[in-house]
Order: sequence, then C-alpha cells, then structure tokens
Amino acid sequence: MDNYIVSALKYRPSTFNTVVGQSAITSTLKNAIKNNHLAHAYLFCGPRGIGKTTCARIFAKTINCENKTADSEACNECESCKAFNQDRSFNIHELDAASNSSVDNIRSLIDQVRIPPQIGKYSLYIIDEVHMLSASAFNAFLKTLEEPPAHAIFILATTEKHKIIPTILSRCQIFDFHRISISQIINHLQFVAEQENVTAEEEALNIIAQKADGSMRDALSIFDQIVSFAGSSISYKNVINSLNVLDYEYYFKLIDNFLESDYREVLLTYNEILSKGFDGHNFINGLANHLRDLLVCKNEKTLSLLDAGQKIKDKYKNQAQQCPVNFIFSALEICNKCDINYKLSKNFRLHVELALLNLSNLNAEKKKNNIRQNIEEKTEKKELKEDKQESEQKTNQEKIKTEIPEKKNGNLATQKSISVKEAFKLVNEKSEIIKEPEVKISKQEAPIIEEIISEFTIEQLLEKWSIYAKNHEEEKRLFTVLTSNKPVLTNNYAIEYRLKNTMQEIEIKDIKPQLLNFLKQELKNSSITLNFIVEEVKEDDTQKKHLFTDRDKYKFMSEKNPNLEKLRQQLNLDFE
Ligand SMILES: [Zn+2]
Repeated sequence: MDNYIVSALKYRPSTFNTVVGQSAITSTLKNAIKNNHLAHAYLFCGPRGIGKTTCARIFAKTINCENKTADSEACNECESCKAFNQDRSFNIHELDAASNSSVDNIRSLIDQVRIPPQIGKYSLYIIDEVHMLSASAFNAFLKTLEEPPAHAIFILATTEKHKIIPTILSRCQIFDFHRISISQIINHLQFVAEQENVTAEEEALNIIAQKADGSMRDALSIFDQIVSFAGSSISYKNVINSLNVLDYEYYFKLIDNFLESDYREVLLTYNEILSKGFDGHNFINGLANHLRDLLVCKNEKTLSLLDAGQKIKDKYKNQAQQCPVNFIFSALEICNKCDINYKLSKNFRLHVELALLNLSNLNAEKKKNNIRQNIEEKTEKKELKEDKQESEQKTNQEKIKTEIPEKKNGNLATQKSISVKEAFKLVNEKSEIIKEPEVKISKQEAPIIEEIISEFTIEQLLEKWSIYAKNHEEEKRLFTVLTSNKPVLTNNYAIEYRLKNTMQEIEIKDIKPQLLNFLKQELKNSSITLNFIVEEVKEDDTQKKHLFTDRDKYKFMSEKNPNLEKLRQQLNLDFE
C-alpha cells in the first residue's frame, strides 16, 4: 500500500452526498441550486478541518456544472466540472486570506470580479480564512460586496466568525458548520481503512476520532500517521502508544475499585499512570469525563449524549449499570473539586491521591449502611414472624431443648424459642460466618429477638468483653479503645463503658449495636443495655482552651502520637 498519499486529500469529498457530518448544510445548498435562489455572498463558519472549504468548492463546482443530476449534484463529466477537477477552471477563484491579507491582494481580486465568466454563468470567489484580512482590505472588499456584479458569487470561510466586521456579516448568508461527531468520524475512517486495505479496531478509531476533536482533516492525518507507524493493522494499543493517550481501561478499572472501596489498588493504579508519564491534572479530568459518560449511559434518553462507537458504548453501559447514580454524582463533585484546586495545591500527587481516597470511600459508607439496613429489615421480619409463630413455638420449645443442647458455645442452645427450621438455618449461617467476615454483623445480630434473661456476673462480663476485643485485634484503633478501660455493670443489666475522649467515641460508636448483641447472646440476657460515657477530663478541657493555633493543635496531637513528628520531619513540613 502507498503510505505517501495523504488521506485527507485522497478522500476529499467531491460531491455534497459524500461530505461527512454536515447534511443540514449540504441539503440547504443543494436546494438553493435547485431553486436557483443563489445569494451573492456566503459565509461558512466553524472550527478547522470540518469541511468548510470542501463544501465551498463543491458548491462552486455544482453551481457551474452544465449537466447537474436530478439531486443537484455536479456531474463531474462536463467541461466545467473537468476543468475544476483538474484545477484549471477560470470561473472559480480561490484566495487564501491568511497569506494574502493586504489591500493590494483584495484590489486585484476586485479587478477580476468585474470580468464576466467566459464559460458558464457565474464566477465564484472562495476566500479562505477571511478573518485574516486587514481592516483596510475589509473596507475595500465591502464596496464590492455591497454592489456585486450579477455574475459574481463570494464564498467566504472562517474559523473565527467574531472577527468579521458586522457590515460584512449582514451581507452574507451565514452557515455554521458543526464539529463532526465521533461516530461519524469513526464511520468515515472505517471506510478509508477499507479502501486502503487497512484493518483497524473500532476502539483504535475511537481514540483517533477523540483526538481529532471533531475535525475530519485532523482525524485523517492522525490516521495516516498511525498507518505509517503501525502498518496495515491498527490496534488500540498502537494508537494509545503513538498518541500518548491514557488507556481508558484504567478508568474502567478505577471505577470498579471505587465501587469495591479498594483504595490500595486505586493508589497503585494511580502510581502506574504517573510512572507512564501522564499528568495528574489531565488524569483527573479524564476521570471526570469518564464519570460523565457513565452518567449519560444510565438512561436511554441521555444515551445519545455519549458520542462513541457501538462497542465502546456497550462497555460504558455495562459499567454504568454497576454504578448508583448517587455514587456518580458524588464522584463527579470530588473530581471537580480536585480539578479546581489542583493548581492551588503544593503537592499535586497527594492532592489527586486524596481525591482518589475520597472516591474509594464513597461506596464504603454505602456498604455499611446497606449492612445496617439489612440487619434492621431482617430483625423486623423476624419479629413479625415470631409474633405469628409464638404460640406454635411454645409447644416446640421442649423439643428443641432436647435436640440441640450440646452446642455449648453456640447461641443456639439457649435460644429457647427457635423453630427447628430456623435452627438449621442458623447452623448453616454460622459456617458462613467463618468464610465471610463481612456479613458477620448481620448474621450474628439476627438471632437475638426473644426475651431471655439470665443472671451473669461482672467476671463473666469482663471475660466476654475481652473475647470481643480479641476478635477485633486486627483493627488496631478499635482494639485500643476496647481495651483502654473496663466495662462497669450497674443495676438492671446496664453496662457502662467509659471513654477517654470523643475520638474514642467516634471509633467505637459504629460497632455499638454489634457489641451489644454479642454481649446479649454470650451472656444470655436480652435486657442488657450498653452506654458509652465520654469522660470529662479536666486536663483535656484546659488543653482544649489553648488549642487555637495550628502549632498548639499539632503539639497536642504529636504528644498523643509520636509518629506524627517523625512524619513531619521526613516530609520536611513546617507551619505557615
Ligand atoms: Zn458537470
């Protein structure tokens, strides 16, 4: 295959129907030709590489075609078309205002305008980059535009409409060209690839189309570049490597990690991204874009807002189904905040990492709440069930007692009013508990419903308490709180546990229901209540009063945790 032919030129459309992505404009132009409603001046505006000049040329050629098709397309066979296609037409003049912006250039054009065409009805003047004309050139041109000869038609093209003076704008029919959508670019690239015997993955073309940002010319030149680099087979990996684009698989992976609250994997992934030389700011913006794309995929109505090939759309749709809308909203907010404050931050890496940690935490809280909800629902259900079965169970009680009295350490033996079915279920659940510590809370809490009140001693309480603490040895801070004091038994089975400060309270309050149920079960007493009391230590109070400055707060904290000072020294931090 020939790598030297530039695709943008080779595949430049030569009829209105082959123009990609501007169908509204081309059909209006065709109608104007068909009905002979031609204006004297047209202005084509829009970003670069989207077909303005191409359309201007097709328009010019078609106007002069001697043998137009029924669909108002140029025949490409008549003398006028041939002359145009061979670049020797005397009727069609092109001026690039970017390199011919002076009054003199315009004056010589104006002189030409007076001369009627030799063949055909119209002389056409295409002025590209018209905003580049100098002010005096604009003024000189204005006169001609006000009173053009009957045979003259001007087609002006610009990327910057706002630079055109209003007196010119008011004399032109204005056409706003739009960016070409990614899916349209992909389709066209697929067509070009087929013609050139290149095989290309849709994901690869998607990246090219994204990078081209709506410009077909850019898309085709990137395509050429990749072909010359990768040969006749373009893969997704080729493209992201040669364009230095961040693999979107990273984003998909990160979202999965966020949903699983796996912050370790998230940090490692971010490290990998940085080590490949990608910039943190671009990364966070890319992540926000990814979230936005997921959001629009949540609903069929907004699905059209995702501009991508079908394969990629499906991929987004799949992940969108895993993401709760609230999660996406919160995640977008975190990304947005990170983006806004990025430049203000002194430690870019940490700044992004903090955002990533927050993202990893979004679902963690939700998970917790879910578990709690499950517990509540389960308990409610059971309570209802219990009410119904109460009478029935009374008769069963004796039977169960004899059936499972040997399970000394289990709770089952003591649950007087549990049906056999229920009991078996519990046995099964107990074996699950060992495998899945996460569900432990819900499963353990469920069985406590019935009123069982047996006496217990403070020694028994202390023993059970320390068992519970031991079970949580892995959770260092919680373990410290649980072992920092001893529970006190007051009247009516009320247990009090004194905490040293509110930090401890924060640490322990989440596990209160779980701890309470554990004690109820282990001590076989459902009337137990548990109260955390934060001790009002006077010393702390006086200290608090002085903790106004950052330095004081730091001092107070570092006394509690000497590692803080080590960290401060290692990072070479100081107060501002
Ligand atoms: Zn023709």
